[in-house]
Amino acid sequence: AKGESRGTCRCFESDLDAAAQEKTRLEIDFREALRKNQLEVHYQPLVALATGEVQGFEALLRWRHPVRGPVSPDVFIPLAEEMGLIDTVGRFVLNAACAEARKWPDHIQLSVNVSPLQFRNGNLTSTVIAALTASSLAPGRLELEITEAVLMEKGPRPSAIIRNLRAFGIGISLDDFGTGYSSLGYWLNFPFTKIKLDKSFILNLEGETNSRAVIRAVIGLGKSLGLTVTAEGIERETVRDYLRDEGCMQGQGYLFGRPQPGPEALRYLKDMGHS
Ligand code: C2E
Ligand code: CA
Ligand code: CA
Ligand code: CA
Repeated sequence: AKGESRGTCRCFESDLDAAAQEKTRLEIDFREALRKNQLEVHYQPLVALATGEVQGFEALLRWRHPVRGPVSPDVFIPLAEEMGLIDTVGRFVLNAACAEARKWPDHIQLSVNVSPLQFRNGNLTSTVIAALTASSLAPGRLELEITEAVLMEKGPRPSAIIRNLRAFGIGISLDDFGTGYSSLGYWLNFPFTKIKLDKSFILNLEGETNSRAVIRAVIGLGKSLGLTVTAEGIERETVRDYLRDEGCMQGQGYLFGRPQPGPEALRYLKDMGHS
């Protein structure tokens, strides 16, 4: 098609080429980052809305590209999934985060995000147990955050793995709740311990009556099922107060703290009166 292309058409083609080249470059760089230990786990506080106490941290992976600067996990996690590297990445995060959480007081929980693809090869349970064993972190202090996409994985596997992890005492949190498509009846069969209300509902809460209705419904659902409901994306005190008054138990957001490196999270705990 090269001979035919001219004008805007040629521009379009070279744009596509440029995008493909760009992606390939990013893939090469990501592979190198993984090899050279340029990935770092940060920790964002999870706070009890009633008391303001820190209850745990969510581990969030960071990649600072030597030239481009910080790359969003919304970019490099899908990249890692496509490249077949998500198991390696997932193992790195679990090991690093469990080792870090071992430095925290015993009542502080650790939440780690798990990709649906990590449910595919059957190694997830052993990876998790290995990370807990290596750090001697009690299984009850770990919670895995999964999304509805896990439930869409075919076969009985995901539910068997989830049950198995629960049997070890590991918590399972349903992340980004309210953004997916699965029916309520479907995911209710899974032994979740927590629901995380997606930040899209929280961020546009003010003046958004629909968001308020969803928030109220999910909090009610959590209550009747005996599950913790966590609201993410809390940036303002008014939003925190609203959620607390609605009966939401736990919150996460820039108001309480940004995702921060391990040593800063430790200092945050000290500053908040947890030794
Ligand atoms: P997520 O699991 O839903 O994580 C919450 C995201 O909300 C994080 O974005 C966090 O920085 C952001 N956030 C927290 N509080 C606020 C707030 O008050 N306002 C706003 N606007 N945003 C807030 P982040 O760190 O960029 O991560 C994006 C996504 O990448 C995560 O969404 C998760 O799906 C994925 N991810 C990050 N780390 C990992 C990981 O280690 N493994 C896997 N599989 N996925 C990860
Ligand atoms: Ca999450
Ligand atoms: Ca989320
Ligand atoms: Ca998300």
